[in-house]
Amino acid sequence: MGQKILVVEDNELNLKLFCDLLRAHGYAAEPVRDGREAVERARAFAPDLVVMDIQMPHISGLELIEQLKQDAELKAIPIMAVTAYAAKGDEERIRDAGAEGYVSKPISVLKFVEAVRGLLEAAALRAAEAPAEAAALEPESLDPFPGPSTACKAGAQDKLQPEAEGRGPGGAAETEQEEELDPGLRRDDAGPKDETP
Ligand code: MN
Repeated sequence: MGQKILVVEDNELNLKLFCDLLRAHGYAAEPVRDGREAVERARAFAPDLVVMDIQMPHISGLELIEQLKQDAELKAIPIMAVTAYAAKGDEERIRDAGAEGYVSKPISVLKFVEAVRGLLEAAALRAAEAPAEAAALEPESLDPFPGPSTACKAGAQDKLQPEAEGRGPGGAAETEQEEELDPGLRRDDAGPKDETP
C-alpha cells in the first residue's frame, strides 16, 4: 500500500508512462485524462501528491493548480507540475500558481521519481510539525499572557503540585527524619559542640 498519487495528463502515452513509473516504485497511481475532472477526482481520491500536466485542452494545469491551492480541503496536497515548455519564466509562473515542484518534459525517469519522493517527504515533515504547532498554540490562545511565560508557569505548576501533595499530614515529619538520618557528617560536627560545654 503505497502513497496515493493523482496523475492529471491529457496525453495517453504520458499518462500511462507516469502511472507505470509510479506504480513500479510502489505508489498507487490514479490517472485523470480530463483536467475538468481533476478537482473532483482529487477530492474523491485524497491523494498524497498530484502530478499535473500544464498543457491540456479545456483547462490548463496552471488554472488547476490555482484551483487546488484555493481549496481549503485540497491545498495541503503537494503538486508536481510537468510541462513541455522550457520558456523562460515558466517555472516561476508554475511556482507562483502554488505548485511545490516542477519537472520538464521529456522527463528523466530518475529525476521524476526523485522529485516525487522529495515532495512526499517534505509534505510528511510539514504534516508532522503541524499538529505540534497547533497543540502549542491552543493553550497560549486561552492564556491572557501568551508567550514564554506561559510555558514557565505551566512547568512550575506541574512541579509544585506533586510536592504539595506529598507534604500532607505526616509528610513533613518523614522529610525531617530523612534529613537527620542521612548525612553522617552532621552528627560528628554536632557531637563535640554539644558535649564540650
Ligand atoms: Mn498535455
